[in-house]
Amino acid sequence: MKKVLIDAGHGGKDPGAVANGLKEKDIALAVSLEIKKRLEANYDGVQVLLSRSSDVYLELKERTDLANKAGVDATVSIHCNAGGGSGGFETFRYTKASAASAALQNVLHKEIMDTLNKVAVGMIDRGQKADNLHMVRESKMPAVLTENLFLDVATDAAKLKKNVVIQAIIDGHVNGIAKYLGLKKKEGNQVNNNNRVTVKVNGKKVADGVLDNGTTYTPARAVAEALGATVVYDAVTKTVNITK
Ligand SMILES: [Zn+2]
Repeated sequence: MKKVLIDAGHGGKDPGAVANGLKEKDIALAVSLEIKKRLEANYDGVQVLLSRSSDVYLELKERTDLANKAGVDATVSIHCNAGGGSGGFETFRYTKASAASAALQNVLHKEIMDTLNKVAVGMIDRGQKADNLHMVRESKMPAVLTENLFLDVATDAAKLKKNVVIQAIIDGHVNGIAKYLGLKKKEGNQVNNNNRVTVKVNGKKVADGVLDNGTTYTPARAVAEALGATVVYDAVTKTVNITK
């Protein structure tokens, strides 16, 4: 069983960055809760610990103590940026990071940029950086801090207000962590609240489909029969033959 700590930055009396009607602590928490849900729902052999699962204040030391005591395989701290400029996405490892931390940063950074670029134009990649930050310095395991766009840059704030961008940030983290830890996707496409697609034929619902990487998977029989076709399944060759 692999263990990962997702640390939602700030919380409680510490809102983090506040600008353009957005609070860093709220975005960090929403993203963190969904990362846990999706990792555990879609992958085998992974347990996700959260430093906080509600709007509470925690010292930085409490967060890294939790990671170190639990002996997690990776720590990812979720933040949004502030400080102007033209905005964008960046990640941080410790200045004296291990090779494993650098590897975690590399895969996470690339996956998040990839998913962001699929849903938004003009996404700025500020790069993979190193800094003397508590969360990445005091974590005894590979640790990375992600800065998911700038709340005080109007173009970034507008992106963060779009659900597709938040979903991309979540999925990018999930994909990156899964890749780094070598997690295996659960067998079959399991329908959950995040990937459920309602499949209609001529306006009438016939089945629940599953959205996976831009493709909708749906029961062949339900759709074919609703279109007046005949479905024959051959269990020996595992073949579905649809005829009309
Ligand atoms: Zn922060």
